[in-house]
Amino acid sequence: MAKSVHQLHREALVVDTHCDTPLRIDEEHADLGVRSNEGHNDFVRMKEGGVDLSFYAIFTRTRLTPNESTVQAVRLIGETKDMVENHSDKVAMAYSVRDVRQIKKGGRGAIMLGMENGSPIQNDLALLHEFYRMGVRYITLCHSAHNQLCDSCAPKEPKWGGLSPFGKRVVEEMNRLGIVVDVSHLSDASFYDCLKYSKAPIVATHSCCRALCKHPRNMTDKMIKELAKKGGVIQINFYPAFLSDAYGVDAYFDAADEYDAAMKAYWKSGKKGKREIANLKKMTSYLKKNFPSPSYKLLVDHIEHVIKLVGVDYVGLGSDYDGIEMPPTGLEDISKFEIITKELRLRGYSDEDIKKILGENFLRVLSKVEEVALT
Ligand SMILES: [Zn+2]
Repeated sequence: MAKSVHQLHREALVVDTHCDTPLRIDEEHADLGVRSNEGHNDFVRMKEGGVDLSFYAIFTRTRLTPNESTVQAVRLIGETKDMVENHSDKVAMAYSVRDVRQIKKGGRGAIMLGMENGSPIQNDLALLHEFYRMGVRYITLCHSAHNQLCDSCAPKEPKWGGLSPFGKRVVEEMNRLGIVVDVSHLSDASFYDCLKYSKAPIVATHSCCRALCKHPRNMTDKMIKELAKKGGVIQINFYPAFLSDAYGVDAYFDAADEYDAAMKAYWKSGKKGKREIANLKKMTSYLKKNFPSPSYKLLVDHIEHVIKLVGVDYVGLGSDYDGIEMPPTGLEDISKFEIITKELRLRGYSDEDIKKILGENFLRVLSKVEEVALT
């Protein structure tokens, strides 16, 4: 007899490669050991959603100076590890694929660290080495501005035209250490440089398909084909603005004008905490009212697009929870992950294929990166 959707989902090793939950620890003092209705991710809801591995993004804003970004990254790592230690009945830190499988066997959730924006590395490989020792296992080389490593997809004018000379050294050193190169947020030219210079497969930890939504954060069919050829994987982002043009780009950001003004005032004031949170809440309710969230089925359309293009081995999930204002309907937070398994079953995918999409594809890449580091 066929397994139930629930059985299949629990049996699978389910991976979410991107969330900004460390920011909620840092700025909102969230206790992730307690089930909350705030934000999208905590250790209780992770378990409910059957998510076995969640990557916590050590994210630094592009406006920080290099020293500020290094300090901020170390602080976020410390806060995340403290939180995991305080709730060791529910979760444990993982540093390898082997750790992840063992932690799942023991009935707990695994937390791994990814760094979003390579600014904290500054121009110093010793800092990269230390971040590896602290547990960082992927690095999204930049965020929404060019940095010392590469060009971002956000600004109109390029700075380096791809990876910088130091960025190339960093990619080489990441291969040697066993850190995954993440191309989300990168310019197309930076992506192709990573493809060229990385010895190991590369990933997009939270990006969608540009053929379905033309946002520059998304990947073209050609990029997805090249990524797959190298054995990499694209982890589909849950953000409506990356899933459909109807929710994205201009329409969305026009609506966010009011929020932008508030944020600018906030940055100017230099104060941290309550005011920013209040502004975020204001924006969330504004967007909810004006842009009803699309269905989770859109997300599965992006998964299917990748499968039709390159096969089932090169796609997975990178929610961007706690980094997005508004998730799709049906996937309001991490506790709802099983609905993806249900939809993939409905669309006729085999259990084996579903397990690949839910996590095994990404773990294959991580294993390969670990292997390259040993050679
Ligand atoms: Zn991001």
